[in-house]
Amino acid sequence: MKIYVIYGGENAEHEVSVKSAFSILKHIYYDYHTIIPIYITREGEWYKGSEVKNKETISTEDQLSDLNEKELFSFDELNEEECLAFPILHGPNGEDGTIQGLFEALHIPYVGSGVLAGAVGMDKLISKGVFKEAGLSVLPYKEIKLREWKVDKQNVCSNIESYIGYPMYVKPANQGSSIGITRVLDEEELTKAIELAFNYDYRIIVEKELPVREIEVAILGNEDVHTSLPGEVAKDEQFYAYEDKYFNQESVVKIPAEISDELTKKIRKMAAVAFEAINGSGVARVDFFLTNEEDIYINEVNTFPGFTTDSMYPKIWTKTGIPFDDLIEEVIQLGMRRYKDKH
Ligand code: ADP
Ligand code: MG
Ligand code: MG
Repeated sequence: MKIYVIYGGENAEHEVSVKSAFSILKHIYYDYHTIIPIYITREGEWYKGSEVKNKETISTEDQLSDLNEKELFSFDELNEEECLAFPILHGPNGEDGTIQGLFEALHIPYVGSGVLAGAVGMDKLISKGVFKEAGLSVLPYKEIKLREWKVDKQNVCSNIESYIGYPMYVKPANQGSSIGITRVLDEEELTKAIELAFNYDYRIIVEKELPVREIEVAILGNEDVHTSLPGEVAKDEQFYAYEDKYFNQESVVKIPAEISDELTKKIRKMAAVAFEAINGSGVARVDFFLTNEEDIYINEVNTFPGFTTDSMYPKIWTKTGIPFDDLIEEVIQLGMRRYKDKH
């Protein structure tokens, strides 16, 4: 099969995407597939590279953003038999259903969730509504719209203070990798945090902070949903920031998480419920908050989680019994199967 591996992208998670693509290209089965890299620049231009023949062809990450044939990619090339798009993209314009819509319109099979799941998963406000409807608990939150903010900042702040209270998290509704997010401890920080979040979106979400452990479950499957062992992100600081996620070896991942069998079972079940509630397919990482009282709150479903060799998603599957290369092949097959089931 001809696989177009698409990475980079026009958003703040560009760099992570390239890292994920690099590790995927190190583990994909070259014997079965023809691999064509497609790099989307930070400006949104699509470049096609020449075929990646084997694991050794790409030796550094930089090669991925410096394709030797700087040939602009044309979409009609995708209109071939037995080809599949593998979008290794995080965040807006990649993981949020937009690119998936393009593939749908062109009748091209692709890896991962469809338009609906991508869009719902990426939107922290809409997804919370869907989770609640599915019977899952979410932390108290409030929406702020840019228009309300512009009209009366003081009023918005005092509403948030009385409804949520400090400490709190201010986040853009559509974003990932902790970008645009601030942990806020007082009124002075609140205004700054809101302004920052509005740089990324015109709707933002403010959430109560609870002292929590962060437990994550990986998902693999379409209608037949498989859940992994839960993993834990053990961190010294409260806030699991962008730097920690991808560039800081200090944040430690514990797989399996040290929680009781009963909690493990419960969280795995909840992860499957959340994945099904947003109509996910292929892959996802479902993130939870666990309190000392053992209350479980769902935080989010990431429909295309980090895929670097240090990322939770591939690590968790390795521990659960699926090595990285088998995992990638399975994800490819799931994408193909989903397309065939629909057409
Ligand atoms: P992203 O989609 O960018 O990963 P998250 O909602 O997962 O956004 O927030 C990023 C990180 O911030 C979380 O992994 C966690 O460390 C911290 N965090 C976010 N919201 C809360 C909260 N309500 N209570 C405690 N910690 C939080
Ligand atoms: Mg996210
Ligand atoms: Mg997160």
